[in-house]
Amino acid sequence: MAIPKKNPDQREKLDEKLICSRCKCPLEFIELRITYLDRHFTHKVPRCPQCGQVFVPQDLAEGKMAQVEKSLEEK
Ligand SMILES: [Zn+2]
Repeated sequence: MAIPKKNPDQREKLDEKLICSRCKCPLEFIELRITYLDRHFTHKVPRCPQCGQVFVPQDLAEGKMAQVEKSLEEK
């Protein structure tokens, strides 16, 4: 069964190479450690090897936080 794709543009943006807007150099992925409510987890985020800028999409960060909060409530 075919599943209609919603927001195909958004999905493609995740896969395309990210470029630092300041240095114009391709970003590399690092594991970012996040600590929230005494919980530790890692998430791969793009980082510029030149200036060290880490790019965390806000919706991603907020989504992660919401997930942690939800799992805490269920216990
Ligand atoms: Zn940079």
